[in-house]
Amino acid sequence: MEYLSDRIKLLSVSQTLAMAQKSRELKESGIDVISLSLGEPDFNTPEYVKEAAKKAIDDNFSKYPPVPGYNDLRDVIARKFREENGINYSREQIIVSAGAKHSLINVIMSIINPGDEVILLAPYWVSYYDQIIFAGGKPVVVEALLQNDFKVCPEQIEKAITGRTRLIIFNSPSNPTGMVYTRDEMEQIARVVERHEGVFIISDEIYEHIIYEGEHVSMASFSFIYDRVITVNGVSKAFAMTGWRIGYMGAPLWISKACNKLQGQFTSGVCSIAQKAACAALEGKDESVRIMRDAFLRRRDLICGLLKEIKGLKLRIPQGAFYVMPDISYYLGLSHGTGTIASADDLAMYLLEKAHVAVVGGDTFGAPECIRISYANSDELLIEAVKRIGAALEKLH
Ligand code: PMP
Ligand code: GLU
Repeated sequence: MEYLSDRIKLLSVSQTLAMAQKSRELKESGIDVISLSLGEPDFNTPEYVKEAAKKAIDDNFSKYPPVPGYNDLRDVIARKFREENGINYSREQIIVSAGAKHSLINVIMSIINPGDEVILLAPYWVSYYDQIIFAGGKPVVVEALLQNDFKVCPEQIEKAITGRTRLIIFNSPSNPTGMVYTRDEMEQIARVVERHEGVFIISDEIYEHIIYEGEHVSMASFSFIYDRVITVNGVSKAFAMTGWRIGYMGAPLWISKACNKLQGQFTSGVCSIAQKAACAALEGKDESVRIMRDAFLRRRDLICGLLKEIKGLKLRIPQGAFYVMPDISYYLGLSHGTGTIASADDLAMYLLEKAHVAVVGGDTFGAPECIRISYANSDELLIEAVKRIGAALEKLH
């Protein structure tokens, strides 16, 4: 007999991680799977960052670190926010966590009461939805359509705000669409937030350095809503440090204090060695960030060019991150002989089983007519993957 809490039963398994696990298992059983499911750079962590971690071990950074993060790291983050994003956060406003995912749940648990509404802009990143549910909140989904470049307009947000709205989660460059909002579009959304006292906005800026067109703009740099923005970021994507688990956020002091209290009871400060590595990464940013970005740009052009050749797929060219989200509705309802493709998840499963290419069905991102493809992979594998996808789709009738 199992006695799980009602709370844990509300939570679903992360589909990005589940798909990654499935393709790992198939690979282990000898099947040549190309995994385009997990959003993580295929590069190694830069050398200068690894050196800093080795030094931290030799220098005996082996004791409990301070709960909100080492002071030197928080100061480097404060400088980064000031110089790169035009945001002034004091050291006390900055909390270092075990990945941006952890920063997000800290904030959500700190400000969401049961029944509070949280506005999500679909297609949205998977974990936002479940984190809100876990906190007892109610996700309110505002849809950004492909024909609108997967962007919502301020009127849609205005319409979705009610007396129970506490939070909006905003993410540009976006996972899963790769879209980047312009300064003007963001300012209009910021003006909506400004008009509604008690409504806050999380700006998830984890892909800020992986941007090909336009500029990255930070929500908190609009001074008129500075005290209503929580800026979330981390080193996973820009510095190819997904496994080190370092994320951080800057927020109004009362929110930072709450997150600090949460970490004090749940996790304590995050890994001392990883913090020292993150400090080096942010402080000594070298050419590697630009080199990785350039490689992602080349791959974006490569994969989008190839996908456009496949009959029935509709797509928008992403301007940032390393995802592309084609609309696959043309294939919904078609048969593969032993069954029908009834959903994007079915199509993802079909591609895994028949083409041995792992992608993620759009349902989990609030985009039931799309699939998400991560192109953080080698040129050769991307070419082979799209060839396989095309051949498998051709078999549907
Ligand atoms: N936000 C977005 C939009 C993401 O794609 C990711 C990637 N996992 C995260 C947050 C979390 O990143 P991490 O926990 O690795 O810092
Ligand atoms: N952000 C990545 C993705 O969306 C990593 C997986 C995860 O953290 O869920 O695939």
